[in-house]
Amino acid sequence: MNKKMFVVFFLVLSLFLFESTPQVGRNEVNTSIHNTTTKITYFNATRAFNLIKAQVEFGPRIPGSNAIENVRNLVVNTLSSSESWMIEFQNFSKLWVGNLNISLVNIICTPVSINLSQPYFLLLAHYDSRIIADMDPDPVLATQPVLGANDGASGVAVGLELGIVLREYHNISNFRIVLFDAEDQGGTGWDWIIGSSYFVSSGKLNLTDVSFAILFDMVGGKNAQFKREGHSYQHSKSLVNEIWDTAEHLGYNEYFIKEDLGKITDDHLPFIDEGVIAVDIIDDFRSNYKAWHTSSDTLDQISINTLEATGRTVETVLLNFESSNTPEITFTTSNSTTSINLIFVIIPLFLLTFIRFRRIK
Ligand SMILES: [Zn+2]
Repeated sequence: MNKKMFVVFFLVLSLFLFESTPQVGRNEVNTSIHNTTTKITYFNATRAFNLIKAQVEFGPRIPGSNAIENVRNLVVNTLSSSESWMIEFQNFSKLWVGNLNISLVNIICTPVSINLSQPYFLLLAHYDSRIIADMDPDPVLATQPVLGANDGASGVAVGLELGIVLREYHNISNFRIVLFDAEDQGGTGWDWIIGSSYFVSSGKLNLTDVSFAILFDMVGGKNAQFKREGHSYQHSKSLVNEIWDTAEHLGYNEYFIKEDLGKITDDHLPFIDEGVIAVDIIDDFRSNYKAWHTSSDTLDQISINTLEATGRTVETVLLNFESSNTPEITFTTSNSTTSINLIFVIIPLFLLTFIRFRRIK
């Protein structure tokens, strides 16, 4: 073999090995389940509805209010009946207009039987409601707080009901429910997504342990239209497809519509920014949910059918995920995979070629 042939052989072999090594970026992790089957599901939409009703009856859940404190008690009372949950409050505070120091609290609910040596997933929602109904056409009502039956209470209810069902009917424990304070106060002197931003930056959880996160926001409105939210679809496409395909399979395609929604700043975003696979299930509030940030976001907007479509779809996705081969999920970035290829494939090949050349000489 002459020198020229060796160089060609070396290059072709290097390229072949480099290309054939799988390169999985963390944001492109294969969460595809591929065995979407109809499982027996237990999500109880009536129980979820009652959890929404209980929150709405507290009144608007503005950060720092007695009403939002009542939601924390409701969460404790809802989950503590079986003693199978650990509930933690993450306390922090933030100055509002007029230098008012507001106490804020994120709620973390964890099954006591969670196995922390395994990856776990997150069910997310915000539990505050907006301090002003600034989308209300009535200028007087537009200064009043939002009751947030859909925008706030529905996400909490679906997250809690799913958690209960996973624990009690399916014996699944490798997940946490995280409920955020102060998501919905943007443009009032505060920014949006304060609670989730604080939660992620606090390092409360090691996010490399999180397999994925599903956020519920406005998931109970009549005739809801869940379209593929932009950040979710860009960074967590396989999980978006899994959820929307599952909904279609279950006959819920009138709710889960395979159309693109713009990018929404919501509680999934701090997670996506840290490389976690995260999907926001959210009604198209710009064109579909007319009561968004108005005085009309009340209990009569809520539909048992929508709650059921959301709950049963995600329950099925989670059951399929649990029964699939979860350990095949890898958490490596494209860049580190590339450098590993360079070290273990190309350099030894170069050395081998070099030695061979010397021998030929
Ligand atoms: Zn909102």
